[in-house]
Amino acid sequence: MEEIKRLAEPIQGLRVLHLSATAFGGGVAEIQYTLIPLMHDAGLDVEWRVIHGQEEFFNVTKTVHNALQGDPRGLSTEDRAIFRRYNELNAAQLDDSDYDIIIIHDPQPVALIDHFPSSKAKWIWRCHIDLSTPNPDVIDFLVPSISRYDAMIFHLRQYIPDRPGLPPAFIWPPAIDPLAPKNMALSREDAAYILDQFGIDVERQLLTQVSRFDPWKDPLGVIDAYRLVKEKFPDVQLALVGSMAHDDPEGWDFYNRTLAYADGDPDIFILSNLNNVGSVEVNAFQVHSDVVIQKSIREGFGLTVSEGLWKGRPTVAGRVGGIVSQIRDRETGWLVESPEECARACIEAMSDPARANAMALKGKEDVRRKFLTPRLLRDWLVLFNRQLGNDTGGVDVEMVASV
Ligand code: UDP
Repeated sequence: MEEIKRLAEPIQGLRVLHLSATAFGGGVAEIQYTLIPLMHDAGLDVEWRVIHGQEEFFNVTKTVHNALQGDPRGLSTEDRAIFRRYNELNAAQLDDSDYDIIIIHDPQPVALIDHFPSSKAKWIWRCHIDLSTPNPDVIDFLVPSISRYDAMIFHLRQYIPDRPGLPPAFIWPPAIDPLAPKNMALSREDAAYILDQFGIDVERQLLTQVSRFDPWKDPLGVIDAYRLVKEKFPDVQLALVGSMAHDDPEGWDFYNRTLAYADGDPDIFILSNLNNVGSVEVNAFQVHSDVVIQKSIREGFGLTVSEGLWKGRPTVAGRVGGIVSQIRDRETGWLVESPEECARACIEAMSDPARANAMALKGKEDVRRKFLTPRLLRDWLVLFNRQLGNDTGGVDVEMVASV
């Protein structure tokens, strides 16, 4: 708090714009709900806008997202034209002279900057995904735009693209808000009351994965793992809770595939925001689970892992991306690769709940120190001060100069 107050003082009234692709669904929106009011409380004149786009644009941005995470499918000439056109349309609605700092989140609006060649604002690209092994065609398509920024931010050092001419990269992880309805203290009794309304038998064991219906989150692998756990614990239930983001056209296809894969198993509950699963309900599922799973195959950070640990729940998650920075394997949770490994970890946690809970409490302490929103606000304030040439009084964030 002291650091935040000190860092905020010289930049009172700073005009900051956040621009992102969606106001709902997924981790970016989740962070914005907290970060925007906090920046406002710190005395900044902060605004959050969402870009406009039709399905054709979001189909292309989904391809871009997948390609940046390593998918070999690239962009056609028409896709590139669509991407450029929507960035241009959105740029036309923006007056950059209204802001001192413009923060662009993720690749969807990254090319807006091309339309402001003599902007006086500082432009920052906050990338929330893993760019360590991108499809070269797609990263090379974006590099000319990225190079125009004053700074970029990644969750991890290894996500910085290996390309010359990029701006300095700042490294910090995202964070969860301990006071938000998603993470506030909720008793087991209240959680049970909520889960009962979704048909969950609150006397029987429960595994939960909360995530968008997306191949990288591997819900089908979670079902495989659950089936293996069920051989040992026949009463176990599985909840797959996933929201539908409007910039995620693949979501419905994958939701239907997941439903088909569950094959009518009455102990598998596939729920979404369309079943009224909002923040408090997600909280309840996490609080009441015997194991919180996040079996991602690729993951920028994976807020759900910090969310599970924050609730002191045994957490089993994919050994990928930012998850590795949140779980110390077999000390605070389990890092896994295959459905079999995932099942073994769940069985281990369920066979000795006292030990699993003790591990999770250690994980909670890690989250308290590293992954809560006050730290995130502080990191942003450091960057704003650095961009304006102010002294940060010895408080700093990791920076990697461009190649
Ligand atoms: N989330 C939610 N409801 C859902 C699915 C996800 O509220 O049905 C939230 C989840 O609790 C987390 C965020 O969306 O806060 C997902 O962030 P994460 O970093 O795990 O993954 P992303 O979606 O950004 O890839």
